[in-house]
Amino acid sequence: MSLAELAPQYIRAIAPYQPGKPISELAREMGLDPAKIVKLASNENPLGISPKARAAMERELADISRYPDGNGFELKAKIAQKFGVEQKQIVLGNGSNDLLEMIAHAFLVPGDSSVYSQYAFAVYPLAVQATGARGIQVRAIDYGHDLSAMRAAIEPSTKIVWIANPNNPTGTLARPGDLVEFFEQCPKNVLIVLDEAYTEYLAPERRPDSLGWLKKYPNIIITRTLSKAYGLAGLRVGFALASPEVADIVNRIRQPFNVNSLAQAAACAALDDEEFLRESVRINNEGMKQITAAFVRMGVPFIPGYGNFVTFHCGDAQMLNRFMLERGVIVRPLGGYNMPNSLRVSIGLPEENARFIEVLEEAMKV
Ligand SMILES: *Cc1c(COP(=O)(O)O)cnc(C)c1O
Repeated sequence: MSLAELAPQYIRAIAPYQPGKPISELAREMGLDPAKIVKLASNENPLGISPKARAAMERELADISRYPDGNGFELKAKIAQKFGVEQKQIVLGNGSNDLLEMIAHAFLVPGDSSVYSQYAFAVYPLAVQATGARGIQVRAIDYGHDLSAMRAAIEPSTKIVWIANPNNPTGTLARPGDLVEFFEQCPKNVLIVLDEAYTEYLAPERRPDSLGWLKKYPNIIITRTLSKAYGLAGLRVGFALASPEVADIVNRIRQPFNVNSLAQAAACAALDDEEFLRESVRINNEGMKQITAAFVRMGVPFIPGYGNFVTFHCGDAQMLNRFMLERGVIVRPLGGYNMPNSLRVSIGLPEENARFIEVLEEAMKV
């Protein structure tokens, strides 16, 4: 017997998540100068980190031999104040990925089912599968969530529905009216995870009132991250906002020190740094225009998106990806999403976007 067979079949069947290629890895593989590599593959903040968050981490470093505050008191207080929720409604995560995993493990067992959309964030099927529950994938509509089909797909065994808004990797945004209709029609004993990893990038008039929805629909769990617009991807911090009852359950399976002390300190400071957030959104809007204008000019079809990335269609994406890697540009292939003819590019700094456009133009000539 192989030792792998000690694991249940549903664990052995998991296909590992494929992250964006790190700069150091490409530099090694291609013998390139890491300083010249442009990484537009993981929807990271091209501005880096807020100076206030960096200063907070440097202060916190003095106490790094101590365990972090396992209750995350200051960070929860900051979140409660900023978003108008009670502290008992908050769950802190080692990135929001950690929260998605915790939510799945807290509620799903073999025999249960969970609904998500085709082309939705890849972590949902992974998190569901790791519990032994059954994933129900619902066909997308124009690359976005078909909310009425998702409602219809809910079975008596369904405990969780996952909605990414905006979605990654397609960038699509659901209409608020459609979401409210979904919340109204969804059985009250089914949890709805509303993953808002990119909500900060939305123009204020487009940003849904998800906190208002949470007050009205206690089966909603909102997840947010500090990895994208707040620029703390490497530190791993996210949080979930839910009804006190749901948050209490998820908190029971949270590792006591899942968010480290540097991350807690940096997150508190980052949440306060409105100026850095504004600049991140501004640079993203500019870069989005720069890249989509180039797509239009070159006749490259793309999915209009609302996050800090764009997915475009390009025939043989594997070949184009290879071409780009050889020239030091890292984008994200979407084969894992069953989109073998598409690539996702994250919005970078103006000069990074220009380099991506230059290499794409070069590729189209050969
Ligand atoms: C990036 C992303 C996350 C997870 O980010 P963390 O770094 O784990 O906080 C969650 N959901 C979506 C849709 C994402 O794109």
